[in-house]
Amino acid sequence: HPNEKIVLAVHGITVSFSGFVAVRNMNLSLKQRELHFLIGPNGAGKTTMLDVICGKTKPVSGQVLLPDGTDLISKKEHQVARLGIGRKFQAPSVFGGLTVHENLEIAQNPNKNVFSALRKRRGDGLTNEMKEVVEQIGLGHRLNLMAGSLSHGEKQWLEIGMLLLQNPEVLLLDEPVAGMTDEETNKTGVLLTEIAKERSVVVVEHDMEFVRQYAQKVTVMHEGTLLTEGTMQEVQRNPVVAEVYLGK
Ligand code: ADP
Repeated sequence: HPNEKIVLAVHGITVSFSGFVAVRNMNLSLKQRELHFLIGPNGAGKTTMLDVICGKTKPVSGQVLLPDGTDLISKKEHQVARLGIGRKFQAPSVFGGLTVHENLEIAQNPNKNVFSALRKRRGDGLTNEMKEVVEQIGLGHRLNLMAGSLSHGEKQWLEIGMLLLQNPEVLLLDEPVAGMTDEETNKTGVLLTEIAKERSVVVVEHDMEFVRQYAQKVTVMHEGTLLTEGTMQEVQRNPVVAEVYLGK
């Protein structure tokens, strides 16, 4: 029984960068506990859509509505984050000179910062939330390592873990498996599937094999607009998708 509750309703988004229309009248609706992929060729406007949803980029028109009717368009980026929208950018941005544990502490307690974490270095026990997240991201054996010495994949997982500690309803991820080994990519697919049992996840992705394997819903963008949406099987039936994006 799929959950049909809409957690985010994005309507009529148009974004212009000094006259260049990067996104035109774009819609996207995100269901509760859904692993939703946003695909399309380079320049289609995918990252711009994530930027609009998280409050980083302001559209010239459109709405991003929460279930209670709150329009995120009028909010600043930090307010959008507080309202439950977690954004991860493409490159990992963990604190390399802090341990995995310290990175997680900072994520869980925004009043802590790099300096207080460095000052204390006391290695407190993990909170229950941290234990759960560490288990999920598979870094239990890395807690006391410097985040800077983790593999690329492990850094990405740590950053996803840091996002989870902010307890977002919606996670926005930009190409999380880019640069990962096949094994790391598979682990990430399992992780995102697990996360989507509790939260909604939007993933901008180029790796079509990854999308095919893990997508519950796919939205295809083309030249700033919505081309088609549905399950992977459904969108593959669209002739433009089949020819241009999937090389069929
Ligand atoms: P995608 O993520 O699908 O590759 P983007 O959202 O990054 O596409 O970009 C959509 C279009 O908008 C591209 O043509 C890109 O060059 C342009 N664009 C993105 N950000 C800016 C910006 N800050 N200023 C000007 N043009 C931009």
